[in-house]
Amino acid sequence: MKREQMLERLRSPTIWDIVVIGGGATGQGIAVDAASRGHRVALLERGDFAEGTSSRSTKLIHGGVRYLQQGRLGLVREALRERGRLLRNAPQLVRPLPFIVPAYRWWEQPWYGLGLGLYDLLAGASGFGPSFQVDRSRVVADLPNIAQGGLRGGVRYLDGQFDDAALALALAHLAAEQSAVLVNYCPVVALRKEGGRICGVEALDQESGEMLTLAARVVINATGPFSDAVRRLDAPQAAPLIAPSQGVHLVLPGRFLGGDSALLVPRTPDGRVIFLTPWHGRVMVGTTDTPVNEISAEPRPQAAEIEFLLATANRYLAQPAGVGDILSVFAGIRPLIGDGSGSSAARSREHWLQADPVSGLITIAGGKWTTYRQMAEDSVDLAERSGHLTARPCRTATLAIPSANPASDAAPLHPALPLSADDVRDACRDGMARRLSDVLVRRRPCLLLDAAATGQVAPRVAALMAEALGRDAAWIAREVADIETLVRAALPAAG
Ligand SMILES: Cc1cc2nc3c(=O)[nH]c(=O)nc-3n(C[C@H](O)[C@H](O)[C@H](O)COP(=O)(O)OP(=O)(O)OC[C@H]3O[C@@H](n4cnc5c(N)ncnc54)[C@H](O)[C@@H]3O)c2cc1C
Repeated sequence: MKREQMLERLRSPTIWDIVVIGGGATGQGIAVDAASRGHRVALLERGDFAEGTSSRSTKLIHGGVRYLQQGRLGLVREALRERGRLLRNAPQLVRPLPFIVPAYRWWEQPWYGLGLGLYDLLAGASGFGPSFQVDRSRVVADLPNIAQGGLRGGVRYLDGQFDDAALALALAHLAAEQSAVLVNYCPVVALRKEGGRICGVEALDQESGEMLTLAARVVINATGPFSDAVRRLDAPQAAPLIAPSQGVHLVLPGRFLGGDSALLVPRTPDGRVIFLTPWHGRVMVGTTDTPVNEISAEPRPQAAEIEFLLATANRYLAQPAGVGDILSVFAGIRPLIGDGSGSSAARSREHWLQADPVSGLITIAGGKWTTYRQMAEDSVDLAERSGHLTARPCRTATLAIPSANPASDAAPLHPALPLSADDVRDACRDGMARRLSDVLVRRRPCLLLDAAATGQVAPRVAALMAEALGRDAAWIAREVADIETLVRAALPAAG
């Protein structure tokens, strides 16, 4: 993927069948689906690919044990079916991960065993393997550093884990292979209309300042938390659709949990589940669910959210973690559908899809990473109907998703980070990395794994990028300063 070539194709006088606004899970999924059906597709992303919610998830491909508790069996069944498809289509990007639900009271083990038995049933043939009850010694063998006082046993089950930004990049490469044009740092700033009907978009190439005008049969708004801002480009008075909720994760050294299994906290005081998952040799703890009024591109974790996660995790850890142990904190905004009333933990995770009856703008919002493929299929089906495109069958249920930019074997630039000089060069040459954060946050999850180490390696990575992209010393200084801001925000102990 080369940005200059992509821009050149955008400038050609094409009528695109579908223009997708937004390069997160939903937008990338639509680009793959539509391009693999043979439609002409352009995707425009305001920042970097997956810069929004799609690189800030819990990184689980799952049916959702929480939705099971809420009795939302249809949603769980759909997500489990998609989980199975993802494992088949992208086995190098999604892996089965064992989870333990620990039991400290007599009724917990049979109760959780029953619930997870239902999870197995709903997964049917696409299951990863059966859940089963385990005794205390097996729980301790799988989670060596779990708090053992009063521990009776637990239930073990399997779900999926992935690197969210890596899957988004893999989808971008796959879409490009299927002839889609994708450009990052290119926000859509206006919608073009003819007789009230949308017939294209205006987008701004942020690197050159050039305005690009694209003609389109159908425009799909896949901007997640920003869906309402784009809907208002179409209808300034549009009522809000998104009720944003913030989710925070913190990352601790792997020794706090030990082993290769995850721990599911089945019920927190606010009625949620929390995961402690092993990830790249660390433990990720999350998430919170805090309704927010402002939708920020760079949401900030609140001190109360960090305290809550630490306190909840510490109830289950033999050695409690403190703020000083945190390697990194990150936050994302859930694009939940709702009117803002009620607990966001109970609001819909199902997706919302509509073609505006007047303008034809299609908006797809909500949903989960796990169900991105189904969301994309539904969106492209609707685009074909509402835009009078030739109807073609969806191919993504069995389409393989190869890895993009797999990690090289070269020596890492920092012992704590999975990033080599070759990785940096590859990301610039073929992965459309344009800014230092593209490499240090999304081409590899360095900032999420160890913010302090990321700050240390930043000048070296910026110099390598400057060489590959032909940038000067002023660019290096600006990029390093921007990463330092992100590093400070990711280290609560430094604040
Ligand atoms: C804390 C948290 C944990 C989660 N954990 C999981 C999980 O473990 N498993 C799971 O299945 N799901 C999970 N989810 C849900 C999942 O991450 C989201 O449903 C999914 O990432 C949403 O993708 P999206 O593409 O719709 O939105 P986004 O990823 O936010 O993408 C929208 C994109 O649109 C771009 N954009 C905005 N305006 C414009 C414009 N004018 N022009 C061009 N581009 C624009 C943005 O820059 C952004 O990149 C989690 C969500 C959160 C918040």
